[in-house]
Amino acid sequence: MQTSNPAKNSGGFDAQNPPDPKLIDSCVHCGFCLSTCPSYRVIGKEMDSPRGRIYLMDGINEGEIPLNPATIQHFDSCLGCLACVTTCPSGVQYDQLIAATRPQVERQDARSLPQKLLRQFIFSVFPYPNRMRALLRPLGIYQKSGLQKIVRSMGFLSAIAPQLSAMEAILPDIPAKAFTDTIPALIPAQGEKRYRVGMLLGCVQRLFNPEVNDATVRVLTANGCEVLVPQTQGCCGALSHHQGQEEQAKHFARQMIDTFANTEVDAVLVNASGCGHTLKEYGHILQDDPNYAEPAKAFVKKVKDVQEFLAEVGLTAKLSPLQAQPLTLVYQDACHMLHGQKISVQPRQLLRKIPGVQLREPIDAALCCGSAGIYNILQPEVANELGQQKVENLTNTGASVIASANIGCYVQISRHLKLQGKAVPVLHPMQLLDYSIRGIQL
Ligand code: SF4
Ligand code: SF4
Repeated sequence: MQTSNPAKNSGGFDAQNPPDPKLIDSCVHCGFCLSTCPSYRVIGKEMDSPRGRIYLMDGINEGEIPLNPATIQHFDSCLGCLACVTTCPSGVQYDQLIAATRPQVERQDARSLPQKLLRQFIFSVFPYPNRMRALLRPLGIYQKSGLQKIVRSMGFLSAIAPQLSAMEAILPDIPAKAFTDTIPALIPAQGEKRYRVGMLLGCVQRLFNPEVNDATVRVLTANGCEVLVPQTQGCCGALSHHQGQEEQAKHFARQMIDTFANTEVDAVLVNASGCGHTLKEYGHILQDDPNYAEPAKAFVKKVKDVQEFLAEVGLTAKLSPLQAQPLTLVYQDACHMLHGQKISVQPRQLLRKIPGVQLREPIDAALCCGSAGIYNILQPEVANELGQQKVENLTNTGASVIASANIGCYVQISRHLKLQGKAVPVLHPMQLLDYSIRGIQL
């Protein structure tokens, strides 16, 4: 948690890296970004749009507007999806602006006690897989004993504690494999070794959908990669970074760089877009650290989303159809993949290589599903609206499988499919490639 409290500048922000006035001034207030902003689409207020938030940052910087709970709510309503960065014709770096604003909000310490406690709980548990595992045991009993069904049917939790209720609502079924990491430290390449790669397990990924990590290893090894999985790896810092927990994000970033130091890998691969985006941001996160600024830049050069990597080096494993008839798939663009890393072509290229796959495109493909890290816990109403819309758009394509390359989106979309009574499987592209390589039919 943030503890430092640097001196205030003349405005409402303190003097420690406030949003850069030059970046603020690059906004010409044209409003092109409004229609692609999910919070503006749902809430409908200027202050919950990119342009409105930039106005607020400017006013706070100038000392004309206070940084207080009334203004903070508009920064909190931002999903950090970065759709506005993609849309903006003037190249406004809203990602840098909101990244500078969030730690300011955290240091301001203006939240209510329940909000503070909730955040403290999240930041002290979620980025630590072993702490999460300790919590999952009683939660598993809660799920299997039938207590979950009773709590959900009574509906009282949402009335008294909406964010706790949101946390309970997105809790997926806990797989048996959640409790231990089973992937060994080094997995040899099959056939001729082409590359030596490192792989990230992800905190939430390894607990709630460990099959994706297993599938990723199999796809990589089948395509000539020796895979190194450092057993000591911790959190990448994505959650902390996206929520303005600057010191915690720096700590995790340093730890991750140390984990992969001297491993002599050709690339560090990630299969969750939120983590991948944060790893690629280490240069910014550690720019003021005299010991890590340069190692961070070197590390970032090796980071690749696994799909980006495979599309670049090419698949060598033979692929088989996933069913006798053509298979219709819809690929869901995760925001930190599409807007954060500008990766949209590569996953589609890989999926099209599976014989018989026909890709469909949903409307509003670039709009956030509402997961956005822990947004669906902290802002459940907006997140629910977005989740519902996303599932409708994906299923309206008529596709029989949804391909999603981010654990947060997987959880959010699965939940809303269930709420809408739709039984469409959600699979990571690595799982689909893995089935295709192993000749498994869907
Ligand atoms: S952020 Fe970009 S698109 Fe949005 S109002 Fe400013 S200049 Fe226009
Ligand atoms: S990051 Fe997303 S939610 Fe936030 S202002 Fe930009 S488009 Fe809107």
